[in-house]
Amino acid sequence: MGLEEDALEYHRTDPPGKLEISTTKPTNTQRDLSLAYSPGVAAPCSEIADDPEAAYTYTTKGNMVGVVSNGTAVLGLGDIGAQASKPVMEGKGVLFKRFADIDVFDIELDEDDPAAFAESVARMEPTFGGINLEDISGPECFEIESYLREQMDIPVFHDDQHGTAIISGAALLNACEIADKSISDLNITFSGAGAAATATAEFYVSLGVAPENITMCDIDGIITEDRVANDDPHSYVEPFAEPAGGDLADAIAGADVFVGLSVGGIVSPEMVQSMAEDPIIFAMANPEPEIGYEAAKQARDDTVIMATGRSDYPNQVNNVLGFPFIFRGALDVRATEINQEMKVAAAEALANLAKQDVPDAVVKAYGDQPLQFGPEYIIPKPLDPRVLFEVSGAVAEAAMESGVARDDLDLDTYREELEA
Ligand code: NAP
Ligand code: MG
Repeated sequence: MGLEEDALEYHRTDPPGKLEISTTKPTNTQRDLSLAYSPGVAAPCSEIADDPEAAYTYTTKGNMVGVVSNGTAVLGLGDIGAQASKPVMEGKGVLFKRFADIDVFDIELDEDDPAAFAESVARMEPTFGGINLEDISGPECFEIESYLREQMDIPVFHDDQHGTAIISGAALLNACEIADKSISDLNITFSGAGAAATATAEFYVSLGVAPENITMCDIDGIITEDRVANDDPHSYVEPFAEPAGGDLADAIAGADVFVGLSVGGIVSPEMVQSMAEDPIIFAMANPEPEIGYEAAKQARDDTVIMATGRSDYPNQVNNVLGFPFIFRGALDVRATEINQEMKVAAAEALANLAKQDVPDAVVKAYGDQPLQFGPEYIIPKPLDPRVLFEVSGAVAEAAMESGVARDDLDLDTYREELEA
């Protein structure tokens, strides 16, 4: 059986889907039930009515994330609608649970209008400790997220934008170290100017890249100041607009870094040859990268540091390295948002972890290949259990230091608890 038939079988095996609700308190006696529900339940209700933050003490709010989509940009499948997106959102719930023990309600909203969608999500605040927006098309996703970040007093995080930004940001920090390039001098060319590319370019700036050293291309080539002035969706990439136009080949020549968040197969070996010495190539289009691992490596004699979205090659940029642990840290300090400081802390924690010795169990889980800091290992592996306490701890610490934590944790104790 192929992967498709296996996946259908996996999902339809009784019970259909892959998540369920379970109870966490005794429900065996009449008394248990009158504590769980009426009349006993009135007591926590009254406590919360007096102090809304008591919801974190008496309900699931503090460990509950809403994974919310309208199904307008699902995987590589496009605008397949809210109902058809449900397997993906349930899958995100599986990953939150598996990697960070966070419970998820997946919410598929049949609403394409960004304002109406955002309004509906804003009203869900009582239920959740955080909102993970998912698979919402650009440029509407920018408007929706910024409205919700302003309206809601809990973290709102569009993973397709920031997950990629943070994890590839960690990869960029380490690639620079290995290639002996300074972040502030990097020339970076992006292919793609959509949700992921825009957020990634912005995040690289917060890591120290100069905005004027970033060039962005979409299907029509280099994004110029003229195009930004005349075309509204491109206003989001205004800081990166160039005076002069050209195609991707023009943009990539001489670049230190290529970041692909567009479509597969559009970068040729000749383009790789035109890049600066020891180039860094993050070809992250899924499922087929902008250029394949072997083709990029073979294009040159110097060191090419290569990352893709694929699990069958080194340096997989996979969002699962980020969102479970970022939300874990944010929830555990009852953060009101996931701010820039927390995102940078997550990227730095991932980058630092890649420089530590890798435990044997992790090496075994990845087929006994050597995993040692260098061009073929610039970011940790998703199944590395240390990612949980390193990233969640760093995010919680950054939340406290930047003043968005409602709860103060002792960080050493917190890290030990996560490790246990
Ligand atoms: P998006 O918002 O739809 O953006 C896609 C961008 O690619 C648009 O700017 C589009 O330009 C551009 N594009 C399309 N065809 C192109 C071509 N032939 N040449 C140059 N640019 C082209 O999608 P997204 O969410 O940002 O995702 C983009 C890609 O990144 C997808 O392949 C996705 O799988 C991948 N991705 C990977 C990861 C990872 O972790 N590995 C994470 C997120 C996304 P126009 O606007 O002009 O059409
Ligand atoms: Mg997604």
